Amino acid sequence: MTRNLRPSVRVRPSFMEVDGLDIAPRSQVASIPPIGLGTRAVESLSSYFMRVADLTSLTPHQFARDLIWPLVGYEWNGNGDDYWQSPSFNGPGKAPMKWAQALTALTSVRDLDRLTLVPLAGLLPHRELCPSVRRWCPICLEADAADPSSGTPYDRLLWNINQVDACPAHAIRLVSGCHCTPQEAVSPWRRKFLPDLCWTCGKPLAREVNEVEIESASKDELDRALMVAALLECHLFLQPGDKARTQSNVAFFLQEAIQAHGTAVGIACLAGVGKSHLSNWSKGRNLPTLTAAIKLAVGCSATLEELLVGTPETQKAASLATGGMKPCPKRHRNKPPYANDPARQESVRKSLEAALAVNPPPRLSEVASQLGIVPRVLRMMYSHLVVALTGRYRNWTRRETRKRHLQKRGIIRSAAEHLAHEGTVPTFSRIEKLLSKDLSLFGETVRQDCKDICAETIAAFGRKGLR
Ligand SMILES: [Zn+2]
Ligand SMILES: [Zn+2]
Repeated sequence: MTRNLRPSVRVRPSFMEVDGLDIAPRSQVASIPPIGLGTRAVESLSSYFMRVADLTSLTPHQFARDLIWPLVGYEWNGNGDDYWQSPSFNGPGKAPMKWAQALTALTSVRDLDRLTLVPLAGLLPHRELCPSVRRWCPICLEADAADPSSGTPYDRLLWNINQVDACPAHAIRLVSGCHCTPQEAVSPWRRKFLPDLCWTCGKPLAREVNEVEIESASKDELDRALMVAALLECHLFLQPGDKARTQSNVAFFLQEAIQAHGTAVGIACLAGVGKSHLSNWSKGRNLPTLTAAIKLAVGCSATLEELLVGTPETQKAASLATGGMKPCPKRHRNKPPYANDPARQESVRKSLEAALAVNPPPRLSEVASQLGIVPRVLRMMYSHLVVALTGRYRNWTRRETRKRHLQKRGIIRSAAEHLAHEGTVPTFSRIEKLLSKDLSLFGETVRQDCKDICAETIAAFGRKGLR
């Protein structure tokens, strides 16, 4: 007999489906609110997931396998059974969003994607955003447990951002890794998985029990943590970010900063990047990483929100200045060849003008290969001539196709009439047989034409005389 590990999920009794009985659906699992929503100390999704699983008397493993996977689909199981342990679980990707939606469906608690970095998805490049290890502030966990109102220690979303190395509340460095040895590891079936416990030995991570060394954070680390913490509580977390809008805002911010600073090199130095990176950002082509954005914001004495989202006034100015800032297609970034050779440019122009008078009109690729220049460059440098050239070739090929089509119809019509004169009913297969030498006549479009012509011929000759 196989052991049934499925939890007993309540099924709606049939009487609830009787018309007129308006009973709200029950949540399948413990429905608890997340901690600190909308504040800088907001709980992480993995922490919320562990607490809900614990209150539903399931291990996170069982909870994920039996209740989440059927909702999110197995392609979103991340790293497998223990995806909820991965730091990217609280990241900006699609999988965290799917898991947050599944948890909302199970608990009836809304806005759970705000426990992840999903709201930042359109504002920052995703790379380097999630740390590779689990980190925490032992003093925060201790204070949570001692808090008489809640008494629930939990994992902060802030600790799950790679660029944050310090706790802004206690000005200490975050701790990573419990000091337990492999011999102290407890079987997964005998230990609890909670945000304030070590997932190997099961011991609490709070300061007193774990006896970790507390190091105070440097000013730089603290500034960085405070800056990201401010980002977590700003209104960005109420509406999802839009990449194109962010690019335009960042571009506008940087253009202003470069003007105020005098040189682009100075701003590039602030961000710790080269001039080309800065040029891309200030032209709205791509976005700075969070590390660079923090450096830029600190260097320009601004907040991350001002850099990425701007104020209502700068947003308006940015959209006016950039016209929505459509990113420049890659091919236009290349400098055209012969830019400094007017004689060569003129000779290419004359060759293209000559090609416009040639009959039948040549293809653009033929002209380009004769000139020894790739078509892309011709399109870039002589767009008007190229448009005329390609238009001429297109019209010519259309006319030729039409002409061939009419010719084919003429041949088929004379074959049909020939059959009718002999007293035979013209059909597609008879005409095909008669014209079997010219197989290229019989494409799909001709088949329908042929049937139409047969019908017309029969009507003209009268059905009675034909057999
Ligand atoms: Zn702390
Ligand atoms: Zn441990």
